Amino acid sequence: MPSEFEIIRRYFSRPARNAALGVGDDAALLAPAAGCELAVSTDLLLEGRHFAARAEPRALGHKALAVNLSDMAAMGASPRWATLALALPRADEDWLAAFAEGFYALAARFKVDLVGGDTTRGPLSICVTILGDVPAGAALRRDGAKPGDDVWVSGELGGAAFALEHPENAKAAARLHLPEPRVALGERLRGLASAAIDVSDGFAQDLGHILERSGVGAAVRYADLPKFRIGDAALEARCVLSGGDDYELAFTAPAAARAAIEQLAAPLGVALTRVGSIHAGAPRLRLLDPQGREIEVAAGFDHFA
Ligand code: ADP
Ligand code: MG
Repeated sequence: MPSEFEIIRRYFSRPARNAALGVGDDAALLAPAAGCELAVSTDLLLEGRHFAARAEPRALGHKALAVNLSDMAAMGASPRWATLALALPRADEDWLAAFAEGFYALAARFKVDLVGGDTTRGPLSICVTILGDVPAGAALRRDGAKPGDDVWVSGELGGAAFALEHPENAKAAARLHLPEPRVALGERLRGLASAAIDVSDGFAQDLGHILERSGVGAAVRYADLPKFRIGDAALEARCVLSGGDDYELAFTAPAAARAAIEQLAAPLGVALTRVGSIHAGAPRLRLLDPQGREIEVAAGFDHFA
């Protein structure tokens, strides 16, 4: 069995291209771009809670980084560096090679350097911290939505949640296991969107966070939500509104930005759908059927509920 240091050297020591110092010292040395703020975010993935015991290691490596890249996208930040804290029950080299492959493949696509981490024995857990930069004052925060703004969603909702019930659906399974973080969209929404969040715990709940932080209400037309094709209406509503793990962006923007936002869709290769509007009032989401009647929404994901 390789030692802790052999594991780090063999699997997690690819050279950092955008850091003064990467893996191998007591700390990495990083310099944000001039005029930028650092955006920092952490996600912890635990076996049995966030992924199944026999989850495919290459997909796990992808997803561990993807969910963090998605947080950068939701801030309008450009991801640059990541650290990886790993607890492993044993030093399984096939597992490590596949995991590192999935992680580094996505990191290379987004020009992110793995610059440090920690490796220890224990129940399988994967904690990634990501750092990115964003021009000072330009980040897409949750608290900027204003009455009159439109509500938008990228891509399609519900596919990842559908895969939990129908793992045999390959397209849905890809949404769940290999999410595509909307980094380029987040960067292009700087100066256009008034608020943004990534949909990790269900659209209704995540949009609710924008409403809370911004102190506004929203009306969303269920029929207009972009949906993964599911068929069964009740299951569809549950997956689209309350299912997690889609990692699409939900964002708000003034009506004046409509044309500019619509023009982003084709070059970025992602659907951008206007689904509702923000209004003054209590921070509540009203979800409407085609007759304008309110639809009830099941709760989104909560680890402690
Ligand atoms: P320390 O004892 O100072 O915590 P370690 O021996 O834990 O240092 O780690 C040695 C180097 O390897 C450090 O630069 C650390 O950031 C890096 N490192 C450890 N584990 C990982 C990992 N899983 N992925 C990337 N870098 C790692
Ligand atoms: Mg250490």
